[in-house]
Amino acid sequence: MNRLRDTNIMYLKGVGPARAELLDKQLGIKSFFDLLFHFPTNYIDRSTTYRIKDFSGEMPAIQLKGRFISFTTQGEGARTRLIGLFSDGSGTIEVVWFQKIKQIRKAYSTGFEYVLFGKPTLFNNRWNIVHPEIDTPSSAIATQGIRGVYPLTETLRNRGITSRVIFNWVQTILSNIKEISETLPQSVIERNHLMGLLDAIKNIHTPQSPDLLQKAKLRLKFEELFYIQLNILQYTIRRLSAIGGFNFNHIGDYFNTFYNQCLPFELTGAQKRVIKEIRADMRSGHQMNRLLQGDVGSGKTLVALLCMLIALDNNTQACLMAPTEILATQHFETISNLVQSIGVNVKLLTGSTRKKERDEIHRQLEDGSLHILIGTHAVIEDNVKFHNLGFIVIDEQHRFGVAQRARLWNKNHTPPHVLVMTATPIPRTLAMTVYGDLDVSIIDELPPGRKPVTTALRFDNQRLDVYKHIGRQLKEGRQVYIVYPLIQENEKLDLRCLEEGYELIRETFPMYKVAYVHGKMKPSEKDHQMTLFATHKADILVATTVIEVGVNVPNATTMLIENAERFGLSQLHQLRGRVGRGEGQSYCILMTKHQIASETRKRLEIMTSTTDGFLIAEADLKMRGPGDLEGTMQSGLPLNLRIANIATDGQIIQLARDTAEEILKEDPQLSLPQNSILLNQLKLLFNKVIDWSRIS
Ligand code: ADP
Ligand code: MG
Repeated sequence: MNRLRDTNIMYLKGVGPARAELLDKQLGIKSFFDLLFHFPTNYIDRSTTYRIKDFSGEMPAIQLKGRFISFTTQGEGARTRLIGLFSDGSGTIEVVWFQKIKQIRKAYSTGFEYVLFGKPTLFNNRWNIVHPEIDTPSSAIATQGIRGVYPLTETLRNRGITSRVIFNWVQTILSNIKEISETLPQSVIERNHLMGLLDAIKNIHTPQSPDLLQKAKLRLKFEELFYIQLNILQYTIRRLSAIGGFNFNHIGDYFNTFYNQCLPFELTGAQKRVIKEIRADMRSGHQMNRLLQGDVGSGKTLVALLCMLIALDNNTQACLMAPTEILATQHFETISNLVQSIGVNVKLLTGSTRKKERDEIHRQLEDGSLHILIGTHAVIEDNVKFHNLGFIVIDEQHRFGVAQRARLWNKNHTPPHVLVMTATPIPRTLAMTVYGDLDVSIIDELPPGRKPVTTALRFDNQRLDVYKHIGRQLKEGRQVYIVYPLIQENEKLDLRCLEEGYELIRETFPMYKVAYVHGKMKPSEKDHQMTLFATHKADILVATTVIEVGVNVPNATTMLIENAERFGLSQLHQLRGRVGRGEGQSYCILMTKHQIASETRKRLEIMTSTTDGFLIAEADLKMRGPGDLEGTMQSGLPLNLRIANIATDGQIIQLARDTAEEILKEDPQLSLPQNSILLNQLKLLFNKVIDWSRIS
């Protein structure tokens, strides 16, 4: 195994330094091992040979056996093509080449038998195959049966590295290895009836049968998911067994006075329930590590505040971290208003806090006179030292992975309790994988009196009506968001659309002030524009998705989303959550061009039919697949899965988690000899060495 890992791919026959560099750049393949783990995404079946006379309808790529009857060249210059008339005895077909004509003409002759592989299409009522793979009957033996089709990039294809080439390289490696050291302990393999590693690798590239292919996939998916679970669960064990935690068993004046005198409204049942769950954690004697999921507008901030007050009642400080300066400022304003009368000292720390203020904050933090610190990432920088930090709230930080959270444990002598809050609904399988180390609380109820946002799908030809609606809202003194997609690959084009949209809106509504913001702006300018809108100095905000998290402007009642088909459902749901925050009836309008595919329409109709974030997230995961997760969910998945699919492999995830739990229950530190494989793999995969001495 190590030999496979350590041997540079450049030494494989037919690769060499130039192609090795290309493979590394394009696919991250550096070693023999990496190539073996570059799995096919598709398979072609060369176990049967077709007859030309049986062709009909839409044909898959198939195999033929026969002879060329003639070759002719047609066209001139760049449009020259070579046509070979091919017969298998049952009929004839035209084989067409547009490139490398001279070489092809030299390589193949009439009268000899060849095996062709390609996809026949019907053109001018004649079947033809363009650029097929061609073997002689003897060389074709090597490619018989089912074999993999590999994911490649355009660049690789242009440089002649086709799926077939990859296939051959993989076969060369496989034919030279007799064994491969197992990456799973025998007990795990037996418990889950898994295929051995070498068998799995062989069958994933060249399945001996569809059934063995399934078994190979299961084994490799399981392994991938199992190590993720093992890694995550180890963090949990470490937290529960090795590190102590604050015991907040006291409820005192801060909490009680606030609860009895300052609470601006009755808590919802769901808010009360999650506060109870969090309280139970905070006095368990262990450090809390909890995820609070609640749809946009469900009132997470108030829950966080009440829990922070419990921390203060137990003589510790609390800290709240938000992803952006705007959000941090909004939290600061809300919270300092709420607790003004009970003598809680709250301060805001962000990248733009002046030195003098910053020094004062540092001083107050260290002497303990500052109770609650709110801010951006600045609050957890190393130079920020607390007197006694007991509770950290992390709001909407999807990129904050398990390793980063674990680092917070060191912020204090006794590790502070950690509450992670998110409005992005996370399907269960994803939560188990990305947030698998966290306990979960869910707020599944909105505060009373909220009117659900009315959502409609509209097309370009209805734009005038949409503008009329916006005009009416503006006249009533309401504010409006207009959102455009801005996607990296399309950045230039998207920015132009956004600018044109902005101009169009200014022309259409000349009486109103329009603010304008996108992610490419300087932060200070962005803040300025957002503030214009937040303080109602602007009536309309034309923006990209930068507004999607957390912004709270209750007077905004309409959200118009342009090119809605280009957003993920979860993203649309987040955007929609920006309206419906006040008393007025709110609207979300999804605009698309007039003609959209029926699948797109179905997807968007999920938005018009439900406001349930969890349903939407599940649908999104199923329809778009996890490949798009990062873009759609902004979950910043710290995972790059090779073969498992979070949307469809729920059962395997569960199996992997159960197995990992069982092993860790018996051997929490993986110190038994039979588990040494596990430690090795964790080290290889997550590049981590757990230093148990430091924490016990
Ligand atoms: P989110 O969960 O999206 O962070 P917020 O905490 O910002 O939601 O709350 C959204 C709005 O609902 C705020 O204006 C807040 O004051 C209000 N709110 C929170 N809890 C309640 C409640 N129990 N009853 C009425 N309004 C509430
Ligand atoms: Mg919030």
